[in-house]
Amino acid sequence: MRIIIFGPPGAGKGTQASLISEEYDIPHLSTGNIFRSAIKNESKLGKEVKAILDAGDLVPDEKVVGLVKEELQEDKYDDGYILDGFPRTVSQAKAFDEILEKNDETLTAFLQLQVPEKELIERILSRGEGRTDDTREGIKKRLKVYKEETEPVLDYYREKGAVQEVDGTGSIEEIFTRITTILPNN
Ligand code: ADP
Repeated sequence: MRIIIFGPPGAGKGTQASLISEEYDIPHLSTGNIFRSAIKNESKLGKEVKAILDAGDLVPDEKVVGLVKEELQEDKYDDGYILDGFPRTVSQAKAFDEILEKNDETLTAFLQLQVPEKELIERILSRGEGRTDDTREGIKKRLKVYKEETEPVLDYYREKGAVQEVDGTGSIEEIFTRITTILPNN
């Protein structure tokens, strides 16, 4: 299974992606996690992206696409994966389509987690992960970037008829049950 989990900051993509990864035994690829661990390790990539993440901006498409391309070449992704935080721009979505095509692969599901905006801000502020971009200002900026750069990705997948909407409110378990109902059971 190849799955994209999509939604605004605070929608619960990471939480649900981890559960999906366990349940279906597919690796969880989170671009945000890759960037945060690079920053923590003070690697070359980390130094390049730290200011961008702190500002709530997007890492340039070229860099993200290059990184995902390289990562997906690893054997562990051969039988599928769940993408969290990617694609985040239409250009990334197009690049991802090319990756799939090249490998003769298709996307199994595009899950759109829907959560009212008011709830997003409250969730992020209360999750207390200590992320340097989880300030009120940081969240506002990420939501603005989401609306401008990322929401168009939805239309791109809608045109393909691929979008499956998931109510992202309620308990973690309730949301996960909705997802497993949608996904094919193999
Ligand atoms: P959230 O969805 O809560 O904002 P993420 O962990 O998905 O958290 O992303 C955190 C940050 O990492 C983003 O604000 C952005 O700076 C960077 N980032 C992650 N994925 C991408 C991507 N696909 N393209 C560009 N920047 C990205």
